[in-house]
Amino acid sequence: MKDRFGREINYLRISVTDRCDLRCRYCMPAEGIELIPMKDVLTFEEITQLAAVAVEKGVDKIRLTGGEPLVRRGIAKLVDMLSKIPGVKDLAMSTNAILLSRHAQDLAAAGLDRVNISLDTMRPEVFTHVTRGGDIRKVFEGIAAARRAGLTPIKLNCVVSKSSSEPNAREVYSYGQENGLEVRFIKQMNFAEGLFDIVEGGQGGDCPRCNRLRLSSDGLIRPCLFSDLGFSIRELGPAEAIERALAEKPKSGGKCSHNWIRAIGG
Ligand code: SF4
Repeated sequence: MKDRFGREINYLRISVTDRCDLRCRYCMPAEGIELIPMKDVLTFEEITQLAAVAVEKGVDKIRLTGGEPLVRRGIAKLVDMLSKIPGVKDLAMSTNAILLSRHAQDLAAAGLDRVNISLDTMRPEVFTHVTRGGDIRKVFEGIAAARRAGLTPIKLNCVVSKSSSEPNAREVYSYGQENGLEVRFIKQMNFAEGLFDIVEGGQGGDCPRCNRLRLSSDGLIRPCLFSDLGFSIRELGPAEAIERALAEKPKSGGKCSHNWIRAIGG
């Protein structure tokens, strides 16, 4: 499917929860967050129905995000349901890998193709500080488990404050080089100011070539990360919500009042 600017939209990012088992400082406020009531969180059946309609319209690439998708109970069942939709060529997940060593085999068996793993530093004390208490060893166990399960290629998402030449970023890059892992650098974003950059080593943030729509865990099709627009699949139905989002997808991202990347999965 094409939007009004002629961009081919074939990529759907699905946030399955706004919950997370980490509290990264650039994502989660110290005072905590107001979680989406469970009654408003989409069921696996609703997500799969929406995905099937999106695939009919031209989507062939799906990514599961969060919050942290692995905290959603039964996530492998959803992967199984999505992997059975004819026309899905690439089924991926973005995860902080804290729970990945427990789930990797089941996810691969259910049909997940690959994972992107968040890793902003190689220094345990910095990791614990940035994530407000996370244990970096679990990330390395998750990477090893993903490799054993064949969830490859494994890519590392490294958030930087200003540039990929920062010491932490350089060390993650070296680790990636030594272990055959592709590293992408994501500059911290500012929603209120509409400030963001193209993902270094990726496609995100490249508005003229944007190919994506997002589904939030509470059922809104969002045409753009840097926009407040959202179309409810429960109110409009999957097909109408997608059509509305496509028709109103902005040419590029701008200032927006929401600042909850955790509920839209980046
Ligand atoms: S800011 Fe919006 S238009 Fe630009 S790349 Fe991101 S989602 Fe696409």
